[in-house]
Amino acid sequence: MQPILSVRGVSKTYASGHRALKTVDLEIAKGEIFALLGPNGAGKTTLISIICGIVTPSSGTITVDGHDAIAEPRAARMKIGLVPQELSVDMFETVLATTRYSRRLFGRAGHDAYIDEVLRDLSLWDKRNSKIMELSGGMKRRVLIAKALAHEPDILFLDEPTAGVDVSLRRDMWKLVKRLREKGTTIILTTHYIEEAEEMADRVGVINKGELLLVEDKAALMKKLGKREMDIALVE
Ligand code: ATP
Repeated sequence: MQPILSVRGVSKTYASGHRALKTVDLEIAKGEIFALLGPNGAGKTTLISIICGIVTPSSGTITVDGHDAIAEPRAARMKIGLVPQELSVDMFETVLATTRYSRRLFGRAGHDAYIDEVLRDLSLWDKRNSKIMELSGGMKRRVLIAKALAHEPDILFLDEPTAGVDVSLRRDMWKLVKRLREKGTTIILTTHYIEEAEEMADRVGVINKGELLLVEDKAALMKKLGKREMDIALVE
């Protein structure tokens, strides 16, 4: 089957001269949950930012559902929802206004029913008229996901969705991600946590110092590298 995302020979050297990504090749199947596992500074955000058209690669090609992400960035971006690490929302806005605005930014007008469904799926419906500043940390993260889903993307990128959250919120996030996949969304997430990759992903890619060291289905990876050894492998 044709992959929904194809990354070929992608590298990145920043203007500072830092080589953040060596040559990365990766294919993601439709409907898959893929975890990119690696320590701080491994190049996870750089890779996501390149795929989402935020950072220009130094070399390589990216195809998103048949669209060349460099030649047709808008068409490729329409297919992608990005949940960044930072809380990138106007705290004074309501949940509903933020989500609708995000949809309009992508030129998708109307379909309020779709937004309502997203808010219900994310258990944000009761908070739709609350200002974002009034929400708990976990709810704020859900707003970021609602915002990313507003334009009906096929692929959702979650950059460290559980960094700095407590165990119960982390479990909530895991459940949520699985529910989104059941609705047909392809999900790519980055994480520092082996247990998170193990819990959520169908396949895991291990990245370190800009190099995609291996990509395995979860079972094979866990067999190949015991948790302890994996921790050691990821020490910089
Ligand atoms: P973390 O888990 O800490 O978020 P990461 O795996 O997402 O890390 P990146 O943010 O992609 O890693 O960073 C990879 C490397 O590239 C790091 O050494 C970082 O300092 C460097 N880097 C990132 N952005 C830039 C930039 N704009 N200019 C120069 N170097 C950068």
